[in-house]
Amino acid sequence: MLYDINWFESRVQLTPKDIAIIDSETKESWTYEELYERVIKVSNFFHTKGVRKGDRVAILAPNHISYFDFFFASMKIGAIFVPLNWRVAKAELHYCINDCDPKVIGVNPDFKANLDAAETNGTYITIDTSNYIDDLYYEQATFDGNLHEEDPLAMIYTGGTTGCPKGVVLSHKSILWNALNTIVSWGLSKEDTTLTCLPMFHTGGLNVLSLPLLLSGGKVVLLANFDASQVIEELLQYKCTIAMLVPTMYHMMIETKTFKTATFPDMKVFVSGGAPCPYKVYEAFSKKGIAFKEGYGLTEAGPNNFYIDPKDAMHKLGSVGKPMLFNDIKIMKDEEVITTVDEVGELYIRGSHAFTYYWNRPEETKTTLIDGWIRTGDIARQDADGYFYIVGRKKDMIITGGENVYPLEIEHWLEAHPAIDEAAVIGLPDEKWGEAVVACIVTEKVLTVEELEDYCKQQLTRYKVPKQFFFLTELPKTDVGKVNKKTLKLKYSNHTD
Ligand code: ATP
Repeated sequence: MLYDINWFESRVQLTPKDIAIIDSETKESWTYEELYERVIKVSNFFHTKGVRKGDRVAILAPNHISYFDFFFASMKIGAIFVPLNWRVAKAELHYCINDCDPKVIGVNPDFKANLDAAETNGTYITIDTSNYIDDLYYEQATFDGNLHEEDPLAMIYTGGTTGCPKGVVLSHKSILWNALNTIVSWGLSKEDTTLTCLPMFHTGGLNVLSLPLLLSGGKVVLLANFDASQVIEELLQYKCTIAMLVPTMYHMMIETKTFKTATFPDMKVFVSGGAPCPYKVYEAFSKKGIAFKEGYGLTEAGPNNFYIDPKDAMHKLGSVGKPMLFNDIKIMKDEEVITTVDEVGELYIRGSHAFTYYWNRPEETKTTLIDGWIRTGDIARQDADGYFYIVGRKKDMIITGGENVYPLEIEHWLEAHPAIDEAAVIGLPDEKWGEAVVACIVTEKVLTVEELEDYCKQQLTRYKVPKQFFFLTELPKTDVGKVNKKTLKLKYSNHTD
């Protein structure tokens, strides 16, 4: 190992008096030095409660300074930081708590009721305000520093868009390299400020920008609850230079009155990620001359993997860009690497930012991590200029009459229709076609099936034109705003109209 594993302590030495964190609700702020003092107290507290290397410490709270207290204390002790998703149903939360079996769990009072049946031998502490630290009893401890870069540092449960949540274990090395790669490839510095309104129990809130910015010496402004107009106000008030949100959030933002007049003079770029971004959103930003780009990632791979210059984002519409500096990307089909331009296959990623294993799931680890390559389960293509495009998820692919159909292509066209707010395309069992392409449409206008069919026939190859259209007032979404296709499939599988 060539570097000091505790990069946070090195950062504090460099810029002790600079602001690291701001809580946008209470308006409190903490310098790097002040954050460090908190981390020392929490590390001592963890140690007093018997937390040692490899033990888990969990948190169940909205975005709050305590995430960083717990995360950097875990870094110091060698514990594994587990942020828990407070939006999931009780049963799923209990599953995660039993699965990770934390020694200490910090809980916001609003979520206490969700824990009643969760069995854990751990110590519960209440995280109500930033002063929760003052109530912690601890003895001074010494930490032996016997840490290795491959040791686990965090475990993030994936969104569960396609199945049961899996604990993705990230080592000190994975987290550091994701941050370094992001700093170098996206050009972050200590002059940058971000607003973290994506939940920090997901990789989007924690790893996309918050940790990279703290490594680079920048500022992280925390917002606990998403409100589109408030986000715009906070971005302006704190002169944020970069932010990452999911497409659903951008969709809400561009509908607000505040967006129509906002100019974002300090903003270098808005990043969208976590799910495909509708072209309408790109357009809304580009019309105002605001830099906007699409990112792609997954919990298992950092998550950051690609970079696109915002100047190219409109002209390479839908592209996630080119690989970042320190990772390898390949597209595979039938065990062979694809070299043909625009041919689609499964995306594989390799690099120091890769996850180490799935907690308690050796079989899934074996099928996802192959010789250091992460098998993403996503389908992609690369154009003649080397830009990558995510075509869809392997699990969402529809086989209709023997043809492979990627719902994303159809969704993009549908969402480009001026009267359609949102669209999701799924495959339903069909006697004749094996699977039938079906579209679920959200619109406030009156649209007929005939109109939609005609529109699709102009844009799409015949077998891709949906055989049925369902009209909904909204699409079911997961807790991070991704369309929940499992729910849609279930809903329409036995539909008889
Ligand atoms: P699970 O993997 O358990 O189903 P999840 O999808 O919520 O849960 P995450 O790690 O949060 O897991 O999300 C990663 C996935 O999000 C990627 O594998 C990809 O399918 C999708 N994704 C992320 N960014 C984009 C993008 N720009 N375009 C299309 N899909 C994206």
